[in-house]
Amino acid sequence: MEDLVSLCKRRGFIFPSNDIYGGMKGLYDFGPMGVELKLNLKSAWWKSIVYERDDVEGLDSTILTSPTVLKYSGHEDTFSDPLVDCKVCKARFRADQLEQSECPRGGSLNNCKSKDLTDPRPFNLMFKTAIGPVDDGSSFAYLRPETAQQIFVNFKNIVDSTSRVPPFGIAQIGKAFRNEITPRNFIFRVREFEQMELEYFVKPGSDESWHKYWVDKRLNWWADQGVNSDKLKLLEVEKKDLSHYSKATFDIMYDFPHGLEELEGIANRTDFDLGSHSKNQKDFNIKAKVKDNKNSTTKLAIQDLENKEWFIPFVIEPSAGVERGVLAVLNEAYTVDEANKRTLLKLKPHLSPFKAAVIPLKRNNSDLVNTANNVKSELQSLGLGRVMVENTGNIGTFVCYY
Ligand code: ATP
Repeated sequence: MEDLVSLCKRRGFIFPSNDIYGGMKGLYDFGPMGVELKLNLKSAWWKSIVYERDDVEGLDSTILTSPTVLKYSGHEDTFSDPLVDCKVCKARFRADQLEQSECPRGGSLNNCKSKDLTDPRPFNLMFKTAIGPVDDGSSFAYLRPETAQQIFVNFKNIVDSTSRVPPFGIAQIGKAFRNEITPRNFIFRVREFEQMELEYFVKPGSDESWHKYWVDKRLNWWADQGVNSDKLKLLEVEKKDLSHYSKATFDIMYDFPHGLEELEGIANRTDFDLGSHSKNQKDFNIKAKVKDNKNSTTKLAIQDLENKEWFIPFVIEPSAGVERGVLAVLNEAYTVDEANKRTLLKLKPHLSPFKAAVIPLKRNNSDLVNTANNVKSELQSLGLGRVMVENTGNIGTFVCYY
């Protein structure tokens, strides 16, 4: 991990955020190379989930989210991690991750002689911000902790504007925010990150086979991004550990430099979400346990074209973190060429930050430099992605491309 972190900084992939003022824990910026890699990974996801299919629509919704949305989604009540305080040094830790935690005074927490911790208490991970000019607590929004909820509350807008019927999906890529108690392992667990989420709506009863379908699809997609299938493990989340909305969840685990951890989760969210946000809940046979909703203005149901009955679709959700994806891809690509004493990144061509470099023979020869610039423009017009002219040296003209 240390080698990767150092390469990322040296080569302009990833920098600690707010660096010149000492940085901020759990926040990272993507530099000139990193921004291209990240864009390419997101484009590959969008291509496979939206463009290459005929049953998925896209969405780009707001980050600021009404507390009412996150009340009915269950986040206000349950989106928390167990927190403990050290009575000696006042540091805070996740009670379920004490094994991996470091004492701020040095060394592993388990070896800390004065380990004297409070009882665990729930700590809500959502960030709040004031809305409007008066910060008196009366009007606030949350920074969304996942992109999914805005997909559910836009369900009727999208169905009405596209005439979709299940099975169909809505995809979104965007920022999510979690006030993680102990952000760590570089960009693996951060407080601001991006998610690539698909909510796939299906008829109740067909949910289990669609769940299996999406698990297979997503495993294959990670392999297409250059992630070694031998380092991917599928883990079925135990019943006792399932989120409140889930009937079953499979986590795609990846062998990160710091250990085997979740790269993507694929959950069967049942009719919990649409059922929770729907008005007139009693009109439908909602299977999930939902909060009585007195605020929603809209029924989030679909009419079955065959028997004309209205029903609330079940949802299968593949949800992947972009930062964790970038970390996995970089970890796979990192190669040390011992013979030539070089470190290389063997990235899949479609993920490579630069698609081509045009390098003129002599930087002082204006004809050659003009030709190089023209070649660059021509290549650029193919829509390849980033193409560069590199004329800092006198090393010979060539065009290198995939
Ligand atoms: P974990 O158990 O690791 O905290 P999670 O189960 O809470 O993750 P989900 O809510 O399923 O995660 O979110 C979907 C995806 O978003 C995860 O698989 C992961 O790739 C990404 N993700 C979640 N939390 C973070 C984070 N703090 N930093 C970076 N990526 C994250």
